[in-house]
Amino acid sequence: MTTYKLLLLPGDGIGPEVMTEVQKVADLLGQAGIAQFETEQGLVGGAAYDAHGKAISDADMDLAQAADAILLGAVGGPKWDGVPYEVRPESGLFRLRKDLTLFANLRPAMCYPALADASSLKRELVEGLDIMIVRELTGGIYFGEPKEIIDLGNGQKRGIDTQIYDTYEIERVGRVAFEMARKRTNRVTSSEKRNVMKTGVLWKEVITALHQREYADVALDHQLADSLGMQLVRQPKQFDVIVTDNLFGDILSDVVAMLTGSIGMLPSASLGEVDPKTGKRPALYEPVHGSAPDITGKGIANPIAMINSFAMCLRYSFGLGEAADQVEMAIANVLAAGLRTADIRHGIGAIASTAQMSAAILVELKKLLG
Ligand code: NAD
Repeated sequence: MTTYKLLLLPGDGIGPEVMTEVQKVADLLGQAGIAQFETEQGLVGGAAYDAHGKAISDADMDLAQAADAILLGAVGGPKWDGVPYEVRPESGLFRLRKDLTLFANLRPAMCYPALADASSLKRELVEGLDIMIVRELTGGIYFGEPKEIIDLGNGQKRGIDTQIYDTYEIERVGRVAFEMARKRTNRVTSSEKRNVMKTGVLWKEVITALHQREYADVALDHQLADSLGMQLVRQPKQFDVIVTDNLFGDILSDVVAMLTGSIGMLPSASLGEVDPKTGKRPALYEPVHGSAPDITGKGIANPIAMINSFAMCLRYSFGLGEAADQVEMAIANVLAAGLRTADIRHGIGAIASTAQMSAAILVELKKLLG
């Protein structure tokens, strides 16, 4: 049985609450002989700031570099609202992304049949929805320089952000999207704003060339980001894999998230480049949701996004696709049986606690593992 090194970074708020539950899933897979998970635990976000004065310590960064994969809960909360900008809780997450060059952010949006009525769209538009958004994560307008506010001296100020993309940045995220599509229904939609942005012109040019050179078997289309936003709420099931830049990906993936009913359900993965020498790919898996300070400590957080993130880790870091399917199936079965945490209850039936939800998932998973 293979042993994988997992670094657990529970973080703040409900992060530690949902991380506790995912550890039980890993333990069960270990007992079932699927794989062994050797876990280490570190601090990130406000918890790390309280302990070390920065949002992730160098020692924990070393653990992150050495791990086969990282599972992160969530960072942030009102307690740290006043801390200096460079050591704010999110800076721990940004350091992980930057130092491990986690350039591809995968955000799947699946709509469980049992939750289709919780979507803001009609059931027939979202039932069976299965979209994968691949967002460029380490470049673009969030990182480009200059990035500043200048005092113009006449009572006016000027805010500047800079969108920059180089060919290699577009190519490597495009490659992730095409590879992903080959394992799904073989379709990629690439999105930018080539009508008004030079980076959009380059984005389309690079993706088109990459497609012709290496992925001609995959169906590719290009959509302007504004029009894609419209299509995503009009006819979302027409899409398979969507690849786009950091800014548009940030916005569009949140739009898609809401189509599925609750933020407490959605996982994400952030992947780096495969090391040609070791074959290892840096990878961090985390729920889409934040630290949810409004429900922290109440024992009611939905653990499904965190457990789904672990399923992605099984699939993309460890090649354990079957085990990932079984975890996802266990979740679907529990939802189909009617169990709901408060965020997905929508006024109907009893409320399950975090522990009750994960206990039910473990029972289902045990059955599926045989
Ligand atoms: P949030 O995702 O924490 O919460 C939004 C709403 O969704 C809240 O009502 C919350 O109770 C609910 N919610 C979120 N996850 C849930 C779950 N698993 N189960 C049940 N309900 C859930 O977003 P926010 O309130 O905007 O941000 C709170 C803090 O989290 C802020 O400090 C923010 O900066 C941080 N944040 C961190 C991340 C991250 O760690 N990647 C992402 C987003 C926000």
